[in-house]
Amino acid sequence: MATLSQTTAQLIAQYGPHLHDTPPGGWHGRGTPDRLVKTHCCFCGVQCGIQLKVKDDKVIGFEPWEDFPLNRGMLCPKGVKRYLQGSHPDRLLTPLIRTPDGFRQADWPEALDLVAEHIGRIQEQYGRDAFALLSGASLTNEKAYLIGKFARLALRTKNIDYNGRLCMVSAGAANRLAFGIDRGGQPWSDIPLAKCLILTGINVGECFPILTDYVWRARDNGARVIVIDPRLTPVARTADLLLPVRPGRDSALMNGLLHVCIARGWIDQAFIAQHTNGFEAVQAAVAPYTPERTADITGVPAAAIVQAAEWWGTAPTAMLLHARGIEHHTQGTENCLACINLVLATGKIGQPGCGYSTITGQGNGQGGREHGQRCNQLPSGRDLDNPEHRRIVAERWGVSADELPGVGYAATEMMEAIHRGEIRGLLSICFNPLVSLPDADYTRAALEKLDFFCVIDFFMSETARHANVILPGSLHEEDEGTVTTAEGRVVRIRQAVPPPGKARADWEIVCDLARRFAPWKQFPYACVEDIFRELRRVSRGGVCDYYGITYEKIDKQYGVFWPCPDPEHTGTPRLFTGGTFYHADGKAKFHPVAYRPPAEDVDAEYPVCLTTGRVVSQYLSGTQTRRIGPLVQQYPEPLLEMHPELAMTLGVRTGDRVRVVSRRGEITLPCQVVRTIRPDTVFIPYHWPEERSANRLTIRALDPISKIPAFKVCAVRLEKAADDADEHGLSVSSAFIRGVKRSSI
Ligand code: SF4
Repeated sequence: MATLSQTTAQLIAQYGPHLHDTPPGGWHGRGTPDRLVKTHCCFCGVQCGIQLKVKDDKVIGFEPWEDFPLNRGMLCPKGVKRYLQGSHPDRLLTPLIRTPDGFRQADWPEALDLVAEHIGRIQEQYGRDAFALLSGASLTNEKAYLIGKFARLALRTKNIDYNGRLCMVSAGAANRLAFGIDRGGQPWSDIPLAKCLILTGINVGECFPILTDYVWRARDNGARVIVIDPRLTPVARTADLLLPVRPGRDSALMNGLLHVCIARGWIDQAFIAQHTNGFEAVQAAVAPYTPERTADITGVPAAAIVQAAEWWGTAPTAMLLHARGIEHHTQGTENCLACINLVLATGKIGQPGCGYSTITGQGNGQGGREHGQRCNQLPSGRDLDNPEHRRIVAERWGVSADELPGVGYAATEMMEAIHRGEIRGLLSICFNPLVSLPDADYTRAALEKLDFFCVIDFFMSETARHANVILPGSLHEEDEGTVTTAEGRVVRIRQAVPPPGKARADWEIVCDLARRFAPWKQFPYACVEDIFRELRRVSRGGVCDYYGITYEKIDKQYGVFWPCPDPEHTGTPRLFTGGTFYHADGKAKFHPVAYRPPAEDVDAEYPVCLTTGRVVSQYLSGTQTRRIGPLVQQYPEPLLEMHPELAMTLGVRTGDRVRVVSRRGEITLPCQVVRTIRPDTVFIPYHWPEERSANRLTIRALDPISKIPAFKVCAVRLEKAADDADEHGLSVSSAFIRGVKRSSI
């Protein structure tokens, strides 16, 4: 039973999160660095280039990397402060084994033997699939590949999935269905060439700050910028048009835009005829979505819908970008397909200044979904249920296709399988499901049911507290590898410093475990590049073809866009040129979408819509960023955003504490009254745990195709809370809110 053996307060006192404000050597004693290491930011999918300053094998600061073309030296607050995580006092430095009195330190052989013993015991007693793996989309391509192979060949379990399941999978599913390939369609250098931009469900300024520069360059070149969001996000404040959609109504709005484009003749008949299939069914599907009906469903005025359609439909070039705002829904895949339908029908794809992309949120959100750590996927985006794909991968791995397990549970489904007793043991690497999965109390109960739980991570996450064994892995700057940016550009992560103490590189830990279950020859790697060479060979001829990418070529070209099928090839920055797509007939496929309401809508008992998201200073579940002092000071705790009209009905003002109750749980937060949100909707950022966790409220309803949870819409009720906050909570929130007022005066 993975219940805690210490109180949360004791665990926090010992392992954090503590705030860290000072680089090694202090602010004045750092001295001249020994070297500058060109690498990338460890946080979001933009993967900005950065140079880390290293002295005495410690990261002491950073310098801009102005030659790297994507961000040209620019960084957001997270990138600027990332160097404070390296020598953090919370860093896990030795394996830990849980005892009835808390964790004790162990050496590596003892810890690894114990993990192997429990995996063996569980698999022997309950079957191979009773042991599962959870992995991360911030891991390098090499690690993603290795962990997938570890699951399928060493443990022979079908149950492996990753936290990208909470991020880009709806877009990935839609891309595969429509285009036959899952990658952003064009380099970001195309964005400033667009004369119209639709940004839907993408909080550019806070989630992908460097992308703001591209949007503004497009605007400076004369582009109309249309933002679709229930909140007036920072980028929306400079947009030409905001469509304040009611959460969960995105496919209806896209259908409405396409309806107008068809009715006004703003579609590209020649492109549709030559390069696509299935338009007639979509034309019929959007016929009922008149501007008036669409306005009724979405809450967006009919005139604004017509205006947006006109700007998009008549622009010579146009690009549609989205992120989790339309993907985190039970209709997430359908929302993305409805966007693609608009792009295809107007022929705005495959040429400079045109295109369609999801912007990946996690550091390796793109590469993390290509190399075989998903429950239904083999390396190179090959499918586990495709006999030919299984044959190819098995042959390249030197095993028979029959030996490869089948499709397993998605991360979101694994918690249910644990509750049912089907999954008894779990190994999780760089995934903090207790904060990031919906319905957090249900996740906690699942973790407590496990017979055995092992975590590989560099800090003690909230989830790791439940582990029986914790293996201290590597930070981004402590290992080599590659990641694939939101553009589809494969870039190098360089080791700047060695892992501290007894911590080890993640790939070494996984290989050591793998060799306890599988022949050495299946995991023969002496270095990370060995894994990459094998990844390239296995990917050859697949959709995500990395065969022609080498570390040297990445260095020479500032990254290589896949597909890159042979050593002479320089990569493919823009997909779909000449209207050629990746289905067998070379055409794109339309998919008709009928709007479906959210899984949980507002009603008399729970009359307000809750939507969740990010703030600029925090990253995902906060395991890293809630430990970096200046980032926490920038936004110390989650605030409940609500419109003045809603605040008035509750009798609350900025700074008052409000109880937020859903059918899953309740939390109490200070509120921030803002005019930048729909009056029927409230917003909470999700980066915090326990009594501040937005995911204690969210619903476990899943998109049936992508299995992504509906983080962006559920029903809540609000009550003004008694002012019973502890001294710390009150002082933090009050200081923050006063600070906002001062700076805005
Ligand atoms: S968090 Fe994203 S936008 Fe910010 S510096 Fe890092 S990679 Fe760039």
